[in-house]
Amino acid sequence: RGHDLYVTCSIGITLHPNDGADLETLVKNADMAMYRAKEQGRNTYRLFTPAMNQRARRRQELLTALRQAVERQEFRVFYQPQVDLGSGRVAGMEALVRWQPPQGDLVPPGQFIPLAEDTGLIVPIGLMVLETACRQTAAWVRSGQGRPRLAVNLSARQFSQPDLVEQVVRVLAETGLDPELLELEITESTAMANLDATSETLRRLHAQGLSLSLDDFGTGYSSLSYLRRFAIDGLKIDRSFIRDLASDSGEAAITQTIIAMGHNLRLKVIAEGVETREQLEFLRALGCDYGQGYLFSPPLSAEDMTRLLRAGDRLSPA
Ligand code: C2E
Ligand code: MG
Ligand code: MG
Repeated sequence: RGHDLYVTCSIGITLHPNDGADLETLVKNADMAMYRAKEQGRNTYRLFTPAMNQRARRRQELLTALRQAVERQEFRVFYQPQVDLGSGRVAGMEALVRWQPPQGDLVPPGQFIPLAEDTGLIVPIGLMVLETACRQTAAWVRSGQGRPRLAVNLSARQFSQPDLVEQVVRVLAETGLDPELLELEITESTAMANLDATSETLRRLHAQGLSLSLDDFGTGYSSLSYLRRFAIDGLKIDRSFIRDLASDSGEAAITQTIIAMGHNLRLKVIAEGVETREQLEFLRALGCDYGQGYLFSPPLSAEDMTRLLRAGDRLSPA
């Protein structure tokens, strides 16, 4: 009907007899290879390899374990201090989820969040993190540990839930946390994926009195005109820029530019992944507001975080 359509094609290929003796196996393996082609950018082809089978099996095992972990509540929330670079004091903390299987070591989020995101399991997990962290922070406030601010990560899937705002309002009411103390983090790429919907959701969340910040800033593609219009309060400079700050003048220039731009837009700027004194001095000289990283503290259990808040120590010299 006069419309031009651009069609692309992802192809998975299996070869008889090496990749399968019967039709069913061949089609199943071709399907797996096609998914690989899609994962790797689409509009391309992949030949089936036995490694794909192993990968699919491992993914399936991880998914089963993850489903059970949700049912059995095997997740814990850790807290990493965020330091006010002016005073050296703890201004707040970021809640970071950990998976503690009954046997074995803690699993860091990088190993299960992508799968949880793909399968939607991130929604119940994320809600649990929000509830736990808000309840814990409200308890810290009540027991006289000052008024630390709590940052909680929201995944793309959570951010696009139609009832997100209602959920957040309910959690705040149930846990008694002052909305002023809650900051939700969404990544720059999540925010920029669907600009008008993002604007609207941010505006509605902001109207509840909480703050919003863009995580991993500098790694996505920001629309500067939206950045100006979004109801956000802060930018978190991605760790990759901080890592080479002292050695690479390019990274330093980008960091300096992000801080200046953030301040011109009246946003607070926080640097992630601060590991060395040199990085700290650099960030201070640039007027960065907050820092988070191993130089100050790794993510801590709630008990260790309580101890830290109680001691009230400076985590860096003022
Ligand atoms: P993120 O939000 O950018 O969190 C910061 C990550 O940097 C954390 O990794 C933290 O442990 C790590 N980190 C902190 N300081 C340093 C440092 O000095 N050096 C280095 N190399 N790393 C540092 P973690 O806990 O493994 O979390 C990874 C990502 O997983 C997070 O990145 C976030 O995107 C996601 N994530 C974690 N918890 C949650 C959650 O509850 N919900 C959702 N949706 N995502 C989460
Ligand atoms: Mg974060
Ligand atoms: Mg980040």
